[in-house]
Amino acid sequence: MVPGDYLGVIEEFLSGGGTYIDDGTIYSSTTGHLLMDSHKRKISVYQKPKSPLLPKEGALVIGKITSIRNKNLNVKIFQIRDKPLFNTFNGIMHITDVSKSYVKTMLDAFHIGDIIRAKVISTKNREFHLSTQEHGLGVIHSKCSFCGHKIILSQKRLKCPQCNKTKWRKMSSGYGKEDFIKLP
Ligand SMILES: [Zn+2]
Repeated sequence: MVPGDYLGVIEEFLSGGGTYIDDGTIYSSTTGHLLMDSHKRKISVYQKPKSPLLPKEGALVIGKITSIRNKNLNVKIFQIRDKPLFNTFNGIMHITDVSKSYVKTMLDAFHIGDIIRAKVISTKNREFHLSTQEHGLGVIHSKCSFCGHKIILSQKRLKCPQCNKTKWRKMSSGYGKEDFIKLP
């Protein structure tokens, strides 16, 4: 995207950062990548930072679970707070950092493909160790492992509306309501 690029019309989209409105039409005001928030129908243009963002200790990150074993899992971190990353990072989480209550196996708390919000608790040896112990942290988006349908929150339980099965996850308090940004 470069300044002046056509992005859409205000009847369809909200104009976000890096955009401007002229006569009902939304244009890019900067050079960067187009971001579409399909939840809020908001478009923005995100400027690539001069120095690459790096997950720091204490930062909240969003990532996708790429592999799970009994006692640990791997997460592809693609967002730091509300900033999407152009280079993703591999995060790891140990079972003792999942929840304040006892978790027997990772498979009781997460599934491959889940999108989670987690806190970086250590960056030792450039390994990003994550935790979802705090109330607001955990899965924010997931799909049914049987049918692929989006799992919804219904009466405080996670449920696949297609299979009608209840699912258990270490859920974030913002499950289903929270937005995450996908780079095109
Ligand atoms: Zn299902």
